[in-house]
Amino acid sequence: MSIQKNLNNLKSKLPEHVTLVAVSKTKPISDLMEAYNAGQRIFGENKIQEMVDKHEDMPDDVKWHMIGHVQRNKVKHMAAFVSLIHGVDNLKLLKEINKQAKKHDRIIDCLLQIKIASEDSKFGMSPDEASEILQSNAFSELQHIKVIGVMGMATFTNDMNQIENEFKLLKTTFDNLKEVQTANCKLQIISMGMSGDYELAIDCGSNMIRVGSSIFGERNYSKQ
Ligand SMILES: *Cc1c(COP(=O)(O)O)cnc(C)c1O
Repeated sequence: MSIQKNLNNLKSKLPEHVTLVAVSKTKPISDLMEAYNAGQRIFGENKIQEMVDKHEDMPDDVKWHMIGHVQRNKVKHMAAFVSLIHGVDNLKLLKEINKQAKKHDRIIDCLLQIKIASEDSKFGMSPDEASEILQSNAFSELQHIKVIGVMGMATFTNDMNQIENEFKLLKTTFDNLKEVQTANCKLQIISMGMSGDYELAIDCGSNMIRVGSSIFGERNYSKQ
């Protein structure tokens, strides 16, 4: 199937309130352009340098989402254009994003990554840490970032029950954190669900899914 067909097929199944992030990591510009020409405007990458390079080659109206783990010293490379950073998992990183956003006179939207998986390999903060950060004085001083939601990744497993429980944990966390509404925190987005589990994620309350291989095909990391 072509990228265009995959995309149209996927979009026809999505409820109106769900935003699709097309995860284009490792894929060539020609693939991204095929999705672009089929109407897709939001693309997700997990490496900052790769996103910077693709940003230069793609049309200006693309919205770039950083979905991977963010190293503090690389924030400056994407601060001019990134539209949403999904993987924010500590206050120091928020401060750095704030500092770099200020240089460009922008406000950068962020999601707090919550650790919902049982694996050690997944990044993210606990629900309590997230709550603490959002209510801290240090956070309230950050005028160039805005926390607009949460993001989570389920355990890599075939056990759909476990995945469902982890998605429900993220939804509950979101509902609890939503009580905090400050000038730089307005929670609206729950980013959860990928190619293998986005339908379940939507059933559990997701309104932003990050889908790669179902649109662009399997990734071949050995070529990188
Ligand atoms: C790669 C990636 C995805 C997309 O995964 P697929 O299984 O190809 O849909 C989603 N979220 C994150 C954080 C990723 O790194």
